[in-house]
Amino acid sequence: MPRGETGLVAGAEGDGSAPWQGILARAIRDPAVLLDRLGLGPALLPGSRAAATDFPCLVPEGYLARMRCGDPRDPLLLQVLPQGIERAPQPAGYGLDPLAETGCSPLPGFLHKYQGRALLVTTGACAVHCRFCFRRHFPYDDLPRGRQWWAPALARIAADPSLHEILFSGGDPLTLPDAVLGRIAQDLAAVPHLRRIRIHTRLPIVLPERVDERLLGWLAGSRLQPVVVVHANHPHEIDAAVAAALGRLRGAGITVFNQSTILAGVNDDDTVLAELSERLFAAGAVPYYLHAFDPVAGAAHFAVDDDRARAIHRALAARLPGYLVPRLVRETPGEPGKTPL
Ligand SMILES: *Cc1c(COP(=O)(O)O)cnc(C)c1O
Ligand code: SF4
Repeated sequence: MPRGETGLVAGAEGDGSAPWQGILARAIRDPAVLLDRLGLGPALLPGSRAAATDFPCLVPEGYLARMRCGDPRDPLLLQVLPQGIERAPQPAGYGLDPLAETGCSPLPGFLHKYQGRALLVTTGACAVHCRFCFRRHFPYDDLPRGRQWWAPALARIAADPSLHEILFSGGDPLTLPDAVLGRIAQDLAAVPHLRRIRIHTRLPIVLPERVDERLLGWLAGSRLQPVVVVHANHPHEIDAAVAAALGRLRGAGITVFNQSTILAGVNDDDTVLAELSERLFAAGAVPYYLHAFDPVAGAAHFAVDDDRARAIHRALAARLPGYLVPRLVRETPGEPGKTPL
């Protein structure tokens, strides 16, 4: 199911002049290149090619550079390498829409499940394709695009004084050009009952060049208090360039949190998670959520059962100050917020 490449405003792909857009355009899309660059043999390739037809391979160069050559179990590689095992029969309970999101939205791309905050699915595009992603089957292409979508969403927000915070999600909102995002932020800033704008994004982690002056300009310049929630799962994801990008966000007065997903073979280990929290905090980001694994079809090989997740989380809490321990949660349809495990 290919993800939409179009932006929120039809045809608005920016002028293409920002350096991050060039880096994204040159990201690796062929599993053969990914394997070859890491010195891994061709044995993995047929399965990888097959899996990539379900959900394409997408890896920015800077993310590849943080992987260990010659190690097929590298924790960053495992997150992004299409693998034949994704096509194996999945256990009972693995579905295409584990969070039952497609049914609950009054306006496609506008999710208002929790009190005081609503989420905009701004785009289906991402800068990296994470194999475990619970949105890998999300029908983004069904979303109406462009101003004809944004006008009713904005009207709904403006008419609901209980809303104080708008989340930009996706896909990844920071794949959209700043001109588009800036316009949305401006419209939101004119709604008096809104207090905060929150961006859920993996770009500062996988493509740290995205945190540039233009982004900081509209985000830190808004009347709305800015919050950025990044997504890193392993300490090796936080290199000097990422730490600098998080530092730029912090330097502009933006509060930065991190969310992770617990993933077998990647971070199902309290030592790894403790190091992740330490590196994030050193770079200015506070650990927020550790998501329990959701049974999404194609990702069963990443599953960590709830009892193990709890045990790992307890071990983590025993070795870190409380503010470095993310909350272990799951999204349960019908609950008023993320549910602690
Ligand atoms: C996760 C989520 C939020 C944000 O929840 P917080 O607990 O505030 O981080 C908001 N809306 C929807 C639909 C969500 O899935
Ligand atoms: S960046 Fe986020 S939304 Fe995109 S594939 Fe990865 S986890 Fe999913």
